[in-house]
Amino acid sequence: MSGASSSLLPGAAAGASAIALYARATAGFEARVAETLELLLQAVATHGVGLVQSTSLGAEDMVITDLIARHGLPVRIATLDTGALHAETLALIDQIQTRYELPVQVYTPVHDAVINFVSVRGERAMYESLALRKACCAIRKLEPLSRMLNGATAWITGLRREQSANRADVPFDEDDGQGRRKLNVLAAWSWADVWHYIQTYQVPYNALHDQFMPSIGCAPCTRAIAVGEDFRAGRWWWEDENAKECGLHKSHSNEELNTKKSGAPA
Ligand code: SF4
Repeated sequence: MSGASSSLLPGAAAGASAIALYARATAGFEARVAETLELLLQAVATHGVGLVQSTSLGAEDMVITDLIARHGLPVRIATLDTGALHAETLALIDQIQTRYELPVQVYTPVHDAVINFVSVRGERAMYESLALRKACCAIRKLEPLSRMLNGATAWITGLRREQSANRADVPFDEDDGQGRRKLNVLAAWSWADVWHYIQTYQVPYNALHDQFMPSIGCAPCTRAIAVGEDFRAGRWWWEDENAKECGLHKSHSNEELNTKKSGAPA
C-alpha cells in the first residue's frame, strides 16, 4: 500500500483485536455502503444466475457476504480451498453457512496435480523461485477458479484501491479478460470502513486478523506484519514488491501495469 494509509498499526498493542485496531467511522461511510448495495442490486439485475461472489474469506469478502445475506440477494457464494489454508480461514466456511444459512461452494485443486507438483518440486517450492511460486498458485488457485467461474458472466471481488499500489486504479466494474465482468464493489472503501462495518454488523471474521495478518492467503505464504508495514507486506514477503499477486486478479499486477507502460493479471 502506498501513501498515508500504509501504516496500519499505529500504537498497536499486543493482543488488541482487529476491530479495536482498525475500525473507524469516517465521513461518507453510509454513502459507501449504500453505493455498494446499489452495485450489488444492479449486478443481480444484470447477471442473475450468472453472478458469483468469489470469496477469499478475507475481511472485505465477509462484508460482501454479509450484505448479500442481509439484503437477501440471490448470489452464489463460492471459495477456493487450496489445501494450504489456515484452519482459522477454513472455519469461516461453516460460520457463513451457520450464521447466514447460505451454502458456500468450495472448489479444490486437482488432487493429482498437487501431489505431482509437491513430489517433484517439494513442499517449499514457492520459496525457491517466482516461477515455482506461480506454478503452485496456478495449480492450487487458478485452475479451481476457472471451474468456479465456468458459466458465470460476472464475479464479485473484495479488491480495494487502498490495498496496494498495484490496485490503486481498481474500477468498480471491469473486464476480467475472459469475457466476464469483474465487480469490485468495495473499490472505494478504506480499511477503516471494512472494520467499521464488521464492528457495526458483527460480521464473523478470520481470527488471524487479530494476529496482525490483514491480508491472509495460504499458510506458507502469509505472515504477520509489523508496525508500519504495508497491508500486503505479509504476502509472499520474500519476493520483489512487483510480483505480489497470485494471478487471480491479473489486470492489477505490476506485470500488466509495466506491460501497459512499455506499450507493448496476478
Ligand atoms: S499462495 Fe503459496 S501455497 Fe498458496 S497456491 Fe500460491 S504459492 Fe501455493
